[in-house]
Amino acid sequence: MSVTEAGQRGRARTKRGQSRILRGRAITQGIGLGAAGRVEALPLPEITTRISRYDVAQEKQRFEEAVARAQRQIEKIRRRLVRLPESGRDDVSGLLTVYDRMLGPSRLTRQVRSKISDEGLTAEAAVAEVSAELAQSIVATANISLPSTDEQDAAAASMRLAGEFEEIGRRLVRNLTGVSYRAFSSLPEGAVLVAEQLRPADIAMIDPARVAAVVTEGNGGADHTAILLRALDIPAIVAVPGLMAQVAEGDMLVVDAHLGTITVNPNATEMRLAREAASKEARERRAFGRIRRLPAELKSGEAIELLANLELAAELPMLMRNGARGIGLLRSEFLFSDEDDLPDEDGQAEVYRAVLDGMAGQPVTIRVFDWGGEKGQDYLRYAGQPQPAVGDNPALGLRGIRLLLKAPEVLETQFAAILKAVSAGDGQYGPVRVLLPMVTSVDEVVAAREIYERVGRNLRRQGVDLPEVLPPLGVMVETPAAALIADALVQHAEFLALGTNDLTMYTLAVNRADAAVADRYSPLHPAVLRLIATTAESALRAHRPLSVCGEMAADPKIVALLIGLGVRSFSMKSASLPRVKRLIRTISFEECDQLRREVMLMTEADAVQDVVRRFAT
Ligand code: PEP
Ligand code: MG
Repeated sequence: MSVTEAGQRGRARTKRGQSRILRGRAITQGIGLGAAGRVEALPLPEITTRISRYDVAQEKQRFEEAVARAQRQIEKIRRRLVRLPESGRDDVSGLLTVYDRMLGPSRLTRQVRSKISDEGLTAEAAVAEVSAELAQSIVATANISLPSTDEQDAAAASMRLAGEFEEIGRRLVRNLTGVSYRAFSSLPEGAVLVAEQLRPADIAMIDPARVAAVVTEGNGGADHTAILLRALDIPAIVAVPGLMAQVAEGDMLVVDAHLGTITVNPNATEMRLAREAASKEARERRAFGRIRRLPAELKSGEAIELLANLELAAELPMLMRNGARGIGLLRSEFLFSDEDDLPDEDGQAEVYRAVLDGMAGQPVTIRVFDWGGEKGQDYLRYAGQPQPAVGDNPALGLRGIRLLLKAPEVLETQFAAILKAVSAGDGQYGPVRVLLPMVTSVDEVVAAREIYERVGRNLRRQGVDLPEVLPPLGVMVETPAAALIADALVQHAEFLALGTNDLTMYTLAVNRADAAVADRYSPLHPAVLRLIATTAESALRAHRPLSVCGEMAADPKIVALLIGLGVRSFSMKSASLPRVKRLIRTISFEECDQLRREVMLMTEADAVQDVVRRFAT
């Protein structure tokens, strides 16, 4: 069906003056209005011939040519980056580097070559199989239904990586079969881009100044396309069922990415309301721009530290744009998830150094690998541990520091890599801290510290120039055990970080990854709050810094409660920073303390929720 035919069909379905509302998953906020501009790609050819009729050498040659062509295409996209606003460039460029690595001497290219030689496959069949297998193995270990937030980053990073394997696989198959890509240049100025599916590299082809909004039928909210659209700050809604069948070229669309709705051919009133909302939003956006530069302090004058969580180096520019004053939680377990093997000491050091470089003197807290649990069991192989048996409960098994102490050589390598990265900064980097995940007892901290100090001594002996005092070593308080012995932990840890995602899970015995019990997962449950309160008391009494880096920190009103409980430092997904800062600047410590007093008398999560929601309205 041609675009024109599709347009006529779409229009025929809408009676004059009657609008239609489609729903999807909003991945950015904002309202955009414009005529629909459909961008369609020719479908990927079906791979019917699996066994090659050429000899192995010839088939391998076809593969190498497809790889070389893909590398040229990536380079072309890279050249177009200058057309993007500066804010989006680094994100796309980071992604292109991921593609470059996949096309280089990677697990993907190695496995494709051996499938061609060992199984006699055609290059396209080998590519399709290997990219699907790699993506599946990542998806199998990722958790996609974390209830605490839409952007539960731990799982999202794995899902994105799986998507990139599929993406590079599709690119190679297209190159092998000669089926080309879509064209973005035909999109009229001010159009709403309507597509079946967008690939991350497509985003580099979009000129955000010419596009009012983006809507897709496919895509997920946590893939790289979503991250890049967020970076470009375009109102965007993905996963809209029936979009391509119901929207025709030229249909007027109001894309409300707050509500996740697309109004097709709005009536005059709907159009007027949308215009008003869009211009109100433009004013608010300008105000957020100002907030980013203002200090995070309460009306009563107390300074609050607002930091960001980070999983992928590609997300660094977004952090800075959102006004993060550093990284409060670098989830290092995701930094290497696209590598065949865990990089060695120098390989890891290079990646940590890149993050420290990117933060330009701001503080960075690096958490050592939190493998296991819902982050996936695949990583256990790095620590030489068998996969858990069916029926085991990985959340209560070898995870975080427990796993690392079973494989001290892995921990030693990571400590050494972090310390080498710090040393390379020659005093230019901001303060670095090192964080231990999933601690439940003092002996784990003592054992980890012994390793840390031994690694420091060895590096010094090798002539590595380390600061006189090693970077502080801290503990994640994310189990009830850790919270209840926080007074003892602070004797061995230089700082504490409350991981409220896991603290909620372990306290309430509610799996954070299980949708069936999502309604029982409540970080505002009095039991969780009492554990936070006792941890805060221990930290304050011992004069140890304490931060919250779970998803609770992304909700401005909950942050107010946590300030009342004594917390002064928060680390969150960076998109939440401006909103949290905006509320902080309008409230006093007395109000936060009053909220705490009211809430801590309560015995039900729902009652706490009501009080917190009513705060500062
Ligand atoms: C937490 O548990 O709150 C936390 C920050 O760690 P993660 O979400 O990576 O488990
Ligand atoms: Mg955790």
